[in-house]
Amino acid sequence: MNGHLPPSPAFAALNWIAAERILILDGAMGTQIQALGLDEDDFTGRASGHACRHHSDHPQKGNNDLLILTQPQAVEDIHYRYAMAGADIVETNTFSSTTIAQADYGLQQAVADLNAEGARVVRRALDRATAEDGRPRFVAGALGPTNRTASISPDVNNPGYRAVTFDDLRAAYLQQATGLIAGGADILLIETIFDTLNAKAAIFACLQAMQAHGQALPLMISGTITDASGRTLSGQTPTAFWHSVRHARPWTVGLNCALGAAAMRPHLAELSGVADTLICAYPNAGLPNAFGQYDEGPQDTARQIADFAREGLVNVVGGCCGTTPEHIRAIADAVAEFSPRKVPEYA
Ligand SMILES: [Zn+2]
Repeated sequence: MNGHLPPSPAFAALNWIAAERILILDGAMGTQIQALGLDEDDFTGRASGHACRHHSDHPQKGNNDLLILTQPQAVEDIHYRYAMAGADIVETNTFSSTTIAQADYGLQQAVADLNAEGARVVRRALDRATAEDGRPRFVAGALGPTNRTASISPDVNNPGYRAVTFDDLRAAYLQQATGLIAGGADILLIETIFDTLNAKAAIFACLQAMQAHGQALPLMISGTITDASGRTLSGQTPTAFWHSVRHARPWTVGLNCALGAAAMRPHLAELSGVADTLICAYPNAGLPNAFGQYDEGPQDTARQIADFAREGLVNVVGGCCGTTPEHIRAIADAVAEFSPRKVPEYA
């Protein structure tokens, strides 16, 4: 579908860098936002004079994406810290900026602003960082899985029931991708995929948005392994997952979240063995403790990710839940000596 579109200038630049070295992705937003200790008035912006112009009767505490509009400086500063820690690619804070996910907060009408501003605030942070050190950096527009699955019924008494359809998802993701591109995203990143049918809707929407934009953007696709047997929630192995998304010719395919680096390793090795494109891995900082917090320190995470690099499994690495700018700095230092994985050539 996007085969005949010319690649964006950023696409060419990213390919050039990826041939030379392992690229660094940023770390978690959630942990950094939590550390700010924001209350309801901070989330709505009533306390800071950036009150959201979109009205909702729902409480907004916990709606992290809304901070793009109501605490833009705080969000920009987090992105900036990741950029200065060594991230080449920084993700927008838009994991839940679809009409489907924002319905929980009564803010479906805010998604165009959330996505466009979400990309702009990353661009501002990256431009600040680049003004200091001259290094190019790239905005990855993040598309999350939504809180509904198209493959599995949430009602045990009605296995045929679906809380969301493919078409609902495709329409929601098209709005999101369009907003991210309008705000200047260099990359579209579909992440934390637990349901391949949701991911297929997101892929379709991203390709449609690129078509409307008239340029091909690099597409990053990242699944998550949710059980010990090494399958996604919709039941696929890493190999099956690759074959379900390969038609999109993603710039990277990979894994994030759910597991720490150690438990991710065999699944990543499997994916690296079958995928004829770049591989991206951004695990959590280990597994959460009994309080849901992550204890794994920057050096521990970095050592395990350096093992991925030493074995030639990765082209892009970063961190998911529980990682901080210190983790990203340690990861960037630890992989600097290793060459990027060579993409195998299959027919
Ligand atoms: Zn995560």
